[in-house]
Amino acid sequence: MKNIGMIGLGIMGEPMARNLVKAGFNLSVWNRTAKKAKDLCDEGAYLCKDVESLAKRVDSVVIMVSGPEDLLEIVNALCATSLKDKTIINVSTVSPEASITANKLINQVDGEFLDAPVSGSKGPAINASLVFLVGGHKEVMERCRDVFEAMGSKLVHCGEVGTGSKMKLAINLLLASFMQGLAETVLFAQKMGLTAENLVKVAASGAMAAPMVKLKGDAIAANDFSPHFPLRHLNKDIRLVLQEAAQCNANLPVGLQLGDILNSAENQGLGDEDICALYKTLNK
Ligand code: NAP
Repeated sequence: MKNIGMIGLGIMGEPMARNLVKAGFNLSVWNRTAKKAKDLCDEGAYLCKDVESLAKRVDSVVIMVSGPEDLLEIVNALCATSLKDKTIINVSTVSPEASITANKLINQVDGEFLDAPVSGSKGPAINASLVFLVGGHKEVMERCRDVFEAMGSKLVHCGEVGTGSKMKLAINLLLASFMQGLAETVLFAQKMGLTAENLVKVAASGAMAAPMVKLKGDAIAANDFSPHFPLRHLNKDIRLVLQEAAQCNANLPVGLQLGDILNSAENQGLGDEDICALYKTLNK
């Protein structure tokens, strides 16, 4: 039985950890807010007192924290001990630069690193159908295939460390554009006297159909803004998109506007609500 560690038990990390336990891995966990680990410990996980003691117990560590600074904080703590024969897998959405720095720090203490953010939200995290976008050595990815397969349904090898994060940022630019477009479309339909329910029915059955139309359209129609993907994380992602775009000289006029829209939504206190709360900024 493989010994796996999970750091970060938020909306995504907790169900992913649960799937590792269900798959039969010997799971050690650490979360900054320890009480969030209670249910998992009742189900068989072991709660470590700190990151260093977790590192000593396991062969691989999966990290699911908020952003690049948080990842590097955790990696620095992990690197206080030798990581020989251990693989550190970051699945949080961070900058390509943070992934490259994490890789260097981990290699210096003889560990291996995979940059493996996920496509998919709370639902796919619960039912183990996440898609992992992996940057790093292919043979290291293959060695960890059983760990990935316990939490997801697909692995896409994107290239060297940093490319997983690049792919994730590209996909989240599309996600943010889509979410804002859907919110505006629902509002426009309602202002013309149509119902949100009918709009979603039509949009979900034509060429524009995507699982997100139904998921987020239904949530808006039901006034349910409980977080699956917190808006503050999408704001962080678009901030990272714009940083990367400036470095690679990509012209993103909609991306720039999304940055302003998401900043304003977070300033309005919507950061902990779902990304579909973008609708609330329009409907005032
Ligand atoms: P979340 O519910 O906000 O959970 C964040 C987790 O990170 C919590 O366990 C938090 O600990 C921990 N954390 C944050 N900063 C930390 C630090 N400096 N040191 C230690 N622990 C820290 O977020 P989430 O929705 O699970 O998302 C996690 C990551 O996945 C983010 O990068 C997000 O962009 C990405 N993502 C999310 C979704 C989604 O749909 N939710 C989908 C794809 C990717 P505490 O419990 O102590 O706060």
